[in-house]
Amino acid sequence: MSRESLLREVRTIFEERRLRASLRADVARAAYLAEHEDLALADRAVQEARWAKLSALTTPGSRPDELDEDLEAKEEQLEQRLQQLGLDEEALAAAQYECPTCQDRGATLDGEPCPACYAETLRGVLQREISGYLPEATASFANYSLTVFSDTPVQLANGRTSPRRQMEQNLKIAQRFVEDFPKPEHNLYFTGQPGTGKTYLASCIANALLDQGRIALLLTMLQFEELVSRYRTLQRSFGAKPEALAEAEGAYDLLLDADLLILDDFGVQARLLPEPLSELMMLLQQRKIRGRQTILTSNMNLRDVGKHYDERLLSRILERFAILPFLGDDLRLRKGRGE
Ligand SMILES: [Zn+2]
Repeated sequence: MSRESLLREVRTIFEERRLRASLRADVARAAYLAEHEDLALADRAVQEARWAKLSALTTPGSRPDELDEDLEAKEEQLEQRLQQLGLDEEALAAAQYECPTCQDRGATLDGEPCPACYAETLRGVLQREISGYLPEATASFANYSLTVFSDTPVQLANGRTSPRRQMEQNLKIAQRFVEDFPKPEHNLYFTGQPGTGKTYLASCIANALLDQGRIALLLTMLQFEELVSRYRTLQRSFGAKPEALAEAEGAYDLLLDADLLILDDFGVQARLLPEPLSELMMLLQQRKIRGRQTILTSNMNLRDVGKHYDERLLSRILERFAILPFLGDDLRLRKGRGE
């Protein structure tokens, strides 16, 4: 599903909500009128005058404008009676919206996404359409705990630090990444042993952006290779069903155009693509043109990644990323040992 079709689905949801609200307002108004006989009569007079005008409009040779005065007078009578009874029709209509902030438009008057309902609505659509490409929903900066990281000092080539101190820095960078978003050509590369919290921190970033109404996706490299290889295969095959091709194209387009794309487990090869690195390079180039940002995570050190891939291409890719090292033991093992 392409970015455009996802956003179209979101717009449709808001249009449906507004329609339902206006239908509810009609029902509420009708119920109110039914309680007051004279109002019901005045309302029927307005309806009849409107109908007469509509009939005149569709009848050649008649003079619909002559009916205007009659209609206006009847509307005025109804309006006065409603005011006497203290019914505020605008308030009645407004009370029917699911979101009072934006009146179910999904946007503020300045055209910004509604802070009260947009992100949640978008997330609902993403969950329905592409749930496999979303981060673990529980990962959030609010739940983030530095105490799970060891504060035992370790010696690195450029000085001493501890996993906790290193993570404190990474956390700050991650939070700034969200604050500055979108900042084109600002990509991150998380590298470290398995279980040092790379995917979790990347997921915190993705969820924070989803909460702002952005499209942030997390795919494993395996999912990435599957998706791209499916698209390439369909592109090449002459007998491909147009719907299947369109669907694969939409999914690929979403990779190009998601506000944030996280590719998890870089370096792991599914061997579904003959040249995964060239595919990645092309993807990054397209995302750069669109001003979109990308995060890669990798369990391998660079030397090992270099063994699997063409080093020249690898360094061209990595020069587009700020590299963040993750230190320490496997947190999942530590928890398992009860530490
Ligand atoms: Zn709203």
